[in-house]
Amino acid sequence: MLRYHTVPVTAFQQNCSIVWCDQTLAAAVIDPGGDLPELLAEVERRGLRLEQIWLTHAHIDHAGGTGTLAREHGLPIVGPHPGDQFWIDGLAQQSRMFGFPPAEPFVPTRWLADGDHVQIGLSTLAVRHCPGHTPGHVVFHSAEIDRCFVGDVLFAGSIGRTDFPGGDHATLIASITERLWPMGDQTVFIPGHGPESSFGHERRHNPYVGGT
Ligand SMILES: [Zn+2]
Ligand SMILES: [Zn+2]
Repeated sequence: MLRYHTVPVTAFQQNCSIVWCDQTLAAAVIDPGGDLPELLAEVERRGLRLEQIWLTHAHIDHAGGTGTLAREHGLPIVGPHPGDQFWIDGLAQQSRMFGFPPAEPFVPTRWLADGDHVQIGLSTLAVRHCPGHTPGHVVFHSAEIDRCFVGDVLFAGSIGRTDFPGGDHATLIASITERLWPMGDQTVFIPGHGPESSFGHERRHNPYVGGT
């Protein structure tokens, strides 16, 4: 069974999730934006074996610690979708702009596309490409535990910003309604920032996508 624990990291309080298979204790970290010592302490405290890094998209608060973590621990980097290459290329500039420690450059070991799967231990998650906030944004869906790690696509009561280069409002709305809603109203999502919610709750109450 998949389990997870979310640790808010960086000044942006980005929800970095550690996910693991409770039978093998193999773990992946989703969006290690920074605060690596804190993340590694959590992995250690739970007796997990960190094996992979998964990225939803390449904004600095989500991807800033990726290069260092991958190099220091010999981990493969899985994701995001190739549409975010220009954000990866711009990580150094993003670091300066937002006052982050310099982000080490990295090259994803495996790019992701819509319909792909990722695996950790005995658990498999489905990958959906959800552009709009960034062109290469992906989400990770565990049907097994009815959870979706959605990065900055959707928040409780809000949606991702679309005023960055490559952002597009109509594309984001289509990603949410055509690729997230079909996972089911009961599915709980872990957003990149703020509290968890369910797709059903957002369909009813979120002012940006309510009634869709
Ligand atoms: Zn973002
Ligand atoms: Zn973010």
